[in-house]
Amino acid sequence: MSTDTLTADPAATVARLNATFATGRTKPLAWRKAQLRALRRLLVEQEAAFAAALHTDLRKSTTEAYTTEIGFTVNEIDHTLRHLDRWLRPRRAPVPLALQPARARTVREPLGTVLVIAPWNYPLQLALAPLVGAIAAGNCAVVKPSELAPATSALLAHWLPRTLDRQAVAVVEGGVPETTALLEQRFDHVFYTGNGTVARVVMTAAARHLTPVTLELGGKSPVVVEPGTDLATAARRIAWGKFMNAGQTCVAPDYVLAIGDTAAALEAHLTTAIREMYGTEPARSPDYGRIVNERHFDRLTALLSDGRIVTGGDHDRADRYLAPTVLADVAPDAPVMREEIFGPVLPIIRVPDLDAAIAFITARDKPLALYAFTASPATRRRLTTETSSGALNFGAPNAHIAIPGLPFGGVGESGLGRYHGRHSIDTFSHQKAVLDKPLLADPLRLAYPPFTPLKNRLLRRFL
Ligand code: NAD
Repeated sequence: MSTDTLTADPAATVARLNATFATGRTKPLAWRKAQLRALRRLLVEQEAAFAAALHTDLRKSTTEAYTTEIGFTVNEIDHTLRHLDRWLRPRRAPVPLALQPARARTVREPLGTVLVIAPWNYPLQLALAPLVGAIAAGNCAVVKPSELAPATSALLAHWLPRTLDRQAVAVVEGGVPETTALLEQRFDHVFYTGNGTVARVVMTAAARHLTPVTLELGGKSPVVVEPGTDLATAARRIAWGKFMNAGQTCVAPDYVLAIGDTAAALEAHLTTAIREMYGTEPARSPDYGRIVNERHFDRLTALLSDGRIVTGGDHDRADRYLAPTVLADVAPDAPVMREEIFGPVLPIIRVPDLDAAIAFITARDKPLALYAFTASPATRRRLTTETSSGALNFGAPNAHIAIPGLPFGGVGESGLGRYHGRHSIDTFSHQKAVLDKPLLADPLRLAYPPFTPLKNRLLRRFL
């Protein structure tokens, strides 16, 4: 089922892209911008087709398809086009006295041919946003969409070759065998989004070629809720961040750490917020998604017995429907607390105070995001300095991802490297140090042997 644009052979595909890169065709700014504009045009013109594919794969609503995938990628392209000239400008570095006269600067160069491996949960955004960075930095790219979002994968395989320079960008569809075959090739960068287990496979394969990797992974992102905050608003925002895409979002709030006596009130507010957003029968809401497949459905429904169901819990395997669910009285070591939930189940854990919340967070893997609702500047300071996470948001789960100026990425188990906006340029280019020293005068003679006490003294002074 490999459907590379010109050939199904991964070695031949990579060889072809490498040959294109060697011609220098992808380096001019004009080529990069033309590709980005073409991609933008495709997204605008084919918005309905992409939205339909996302609906088929995940029952995404048209609005979420736009805000979190199609429009999101258009914004990333616009932001990149707006700033690319400036990001690519060489940056000067000061030259120490002993090396003057000279000019020192950093020049960005593309890496070559890069591989983008995308997951199924935001199958358009997570294939294309890295591609935007790869192209903007002047690379050739192979995009491998997720086989678990087959409609979106097929549409990308159809349109990208018809839209972009097919000598420079290829789509390879497929699952584990096809990705394994791709990973045997030598790439100049591998950009992987998905889970930590496969990330280890990717990094091991890349290590054989000494290829750098970016790993965009997941984890359990906590939400700290402190007394004294506006609990109704907090509940609405938590419900929004958690239940979009039926909880299948890498940065979704995974669980709530309810400090002091906030748990009971939060339970009521979350129930209200879910009803306001998805009605009394979320199964009938056009805005509520479905679980990607039966395997994940079975995994998620097995977690429902890990606490008292406050709201939700009903499910229908034939429809892969699992209601937005809040679980209370969850034990910290329950199965639902052992792995990333990645579905519409929200456990609430009671903790006595902020110390306990911080201890809970720091005893576990560093999360992709940490969220907090607090009215206290001291709490903000403590969470900022005493915890580590890919991102830290006060008052708004998930929202940082839509700010293109912020780096997006994890730390520790939640990932390695970052992207979005100019951070994508950092990821997909090499910063080459360029020194330019005229041959006219030669004060460097000071540094040549034979060394004398005078040279020694001067060198210590001016270096
Ligand atoms: P997935 O199953 O679609 O896998 C991701 C990609 O890896 C796919 O293209 C797949 O074909 C490939 N793959 C799977 N097994 C492989 C193997 N053995 N060898 C080589 N390639 C293989 O997606 P997933 O991993 O289920 O995605 C969910 C995870 O991704 C969650 O942990 C989530 O938090 C994380 N995620 C992170 C981000 C982020 O930006 N940090 C975004 C979305 C999802």
